[in-house]
Parts: sequence; C-alpha cells; structure tokens
Amino acid sequence: MTIAETTVFEAFESNVRGYCRSWPTVFDTARGAWLTDETGKDYLDFFAGAGALNYGHNNPVLKQALLDYLTGDGITHGLDMSTVAKRRLLETVRDVVLTPRGLDYKVQFPGPTGANAVEAALKLARKVTGRTAVLNFTNAFHGMTLGALSVTGNAAKRAGAGVPLVHATPMPYDGYLGGPEVSAADDLSWMRRALDDSSSGLDRPAAVIVETVQGEGGVNVARPEWLRELSTLCADRGILLIVDDVQMGCGRTGPFFSFEVAGITPDIVTLSKSIGGYGLPMALVLMRRELDLWAPGEHNGTFRGNNAAFVTAEVALRHYWSDGRLEAATLAKGDRIARHLADFTATLPGITTRGRGLVQGLVFDDASQAAKVCRTAFELGLLVETSGTRDEVVKLMPPLTVTDEEITHGLAILTQAVEVVRDTH
Ligand code: PMP
Repeated sequence: MTIAETTVFEAFESNVRGYCRSWPTVFDTARGAWLTDETGKDYLDFFAGAGALNYGHNNPVLKQALLDYLTGDGITHGLDMSTVAKRRLLETVRDVVLTPRGLDYKVQFPGPTGANAVEAALKLARKVTGRTAVLNFTNAFHGMTLGALSVTGNAAKRAGAGVPLVHATPMPYDGYLGGPEVSAADDLSWMRRALDDSSSGLDRPAAVIVETVQGEGGVNVARPEWLRELSTLCADRGILLIVDDVQMGCGRTGPFFSFEVAGITPDIVTLSKSIGGYGLPMALVLMRRELDLWAPGEHNGTFRGNNAAFVTAEVALRHYWSDGRLEAATLAKGDRIARHLADFTATLPGITTRGRGLVQGLVFDDASQAAKVCRTAFELGLLVETSGTRDEVVKLMPPLTVTDEEITHGLAILTQAVEVVRDTH
C-alpha cells in the first residue's frame, strides 16, 4: 500500500475533525519522538500529542509498567474508589512533586480532561469565596466546556458555545499592551485600578485564571516578574490564583510546574495532558489544603479513576522527577532550539521567535506563511502545528525525551520548510 486510505474518515467522521486535515495521512505506530504512517513513512513529532506526550510515544519504561499491571489484572476502572495504584500515585505526588517544592496541596481527581480540571477549579473557587466573577486573560485557552470556554479568548471557539458565556472578564496578558518596554507593574495597572475602584464596574472576582505560557494562544510567555506581580495583586485582595498548567506543566518549560520560574504558589493548579505519562487520560486539581471545601461527590464523574493512567503517571514521576536531570536537559534543549531559531531568523524580516524550555514559537507577520510552513514540514516528515489568534505561530513542542540528533533533524526540516515557503512567495 503506498497511499493512505482515508475514505472512511471523510465519509463518516464528523466535520469537527481537525488534526487529520493538517496531516492528511493515516498513522499506525509510534515510538519516542517518531510516528509512522500506514505506508511506512516516518514523521518526527514536534507536537507531542498537544503536550500529552512529554515522555514520548510508547515510552518503554512506562509501557512495561502498564503491561505488568494489565497482565496482573490490576483495576482498570475505579471511579474514585481507593485502589493500590491510586495510593501509590498519591504517595508519589506527595513525595516526589509536592514535598520537595514545599507545596501543601490536596489532590482532586476530576474527570480526565484538562477542561474538566478547569471546570472543577472554577467551581471550587466560586464555592470557597461565594463570588461568581472570574478574571481571565486575552488569548487564553482553557478548554471547550462552557465554564472553560467562558475564560477562553478565541472568538470562533467561544461562538461554538451557542449560549452567552458569562461571569468572566478578560484582562490584558503580559505583553498585550506593549513589548518588554512596558514594566510588569504597568502591564497590570488596569487590572489593579479596576479592582480597587468601586465604580469601575468590575465585580470582585472569586479567582484569576492564568497560563504562565499561553500554548494555544501563540506561545505568549509571561515574565516571572509579571507572574509575581499578579500573584501579589491577588493575594492582597483575597482573590484566588488558579494556574492552568494543563499544557505547560509536567516539565514542558523546564521545572515540573511552570510557575516555579516565578517562585509563586498558586492557590489552585490544574494538570492534565502529560500527568498520565503515557498519553492515557487523567487530570488533577491541586488546591491549598484550606480550600478543600468540597462536599463528597460534589464534583464527580465516571472516568475519574483511570487506574492504568495512575500506574504510568506514578512511574513517570518516579523515573523522571526524582532528580533534576530532566529539568536541566529540557532547559538545555530548549536553549539550543531557541538559539537556532533566533540565528536563523535574524536575517529574515517578518519572523520573530519566543518560548520557554521546550515550547518554542516562530512568529510570522504574514500568518498565511505559518500554515504553509507546517504543511511543507509535514511533507518533509516533521509534525508541527500552528497556534495564536491568527494561527500566525509555528509551535515547536517535541517530547522532552527528544534526542540531540532528533533536534538537529527537526530543525533542519523546519529551516528547509521556511526557506521553501519564502522562496515561493
Ligand atoms: N488548558 C490548557 C492550558 C490547554 O492547553 C488545554 C488543551 N489544549 C486545556 C486546558 C483543555 O484540555 P482538554 O483538551 O484535555 O480538555
């Protein structure tokens, strides 16, 4: 077979399908940073399941643990019953992730998606404070359910709700009002002023929800000082700070939590995507101990107990986070990619770069070029996707386990794709 067979997808799968349009082939197997389609063509994966595959496809360490668990008839579906797999995971989250960072969070298992974790976080913040309003940020992305959409920026996604999205007010994200020349304090001056002026028309919010780097919003990187300023602003006014670490957590920016770079302690943190380790669905909400005012079952769901994911999550945490090696390697690889992109684009007008750790972006003044670069990269054997308001950013997000040779290979394809697109313009 030399041509991927796509008829059934086009005939029967809903029009809502998306990624298969950007990458029109039929994938079959995957290992590490590579996918192979049914014709035998290999693709280097600088997309990593939208951040769900930080440890690569079919990571052998996690796979073995999963196989052993399944072979031993370990519990697969467990609602929120106590299981051995869940106990091990909770102990590991405490001992490997929280205690070494001085974090005294309790752990909630919501439904297994990022959006469900965000819904739970928003509900909890409203319940704890008794307030309804929430502040979010320009270009934010928090998921597709109604609560998560209400704090998401993208107009097309919001329109899909079909009902008014209420009780959220967008504030300018870091950099929205200008470049680095605007200080972090000045960047937040509107928010501060509106909160402190009883005639501003802004209701006192329960919470502020923020991504430290906006992944879907275009690889917008908040400065550590902006995050600190935001954290202080919230703490001084009794507003809960929710960091949505669904995409940037689990080491994507270097440290396990993306907010560590700023030295802040959010009140509530959401995790999903790579927390399951193997690409299996799972999510967590972490909350300061005293905020845990949930009544039993108040936020429930059938798939909160994906115990197979608990097993791979636990092994991933122990294997990759018991020391600082993955963090150091991620920062080194990220620096290397950032330097390459900066050098390569220095002579190319209309393209800039930004990122942190292993999420890096090429930003095109002419947004149509970004889509063409992704398409050409696909043809050359590299998976990268666009992000940003106008889809103007080519986002590079390889697995954290990507090798130096794979980075060299991926950057060579990307460079070639940019050259092809600019030559044909
Ligand atoms: N929050 C952030 C920051 C995300 O990037 C995403 C997914 N891209 C979500 C929430 C929603 O996660 P899910 O698609 O699993 O619902």
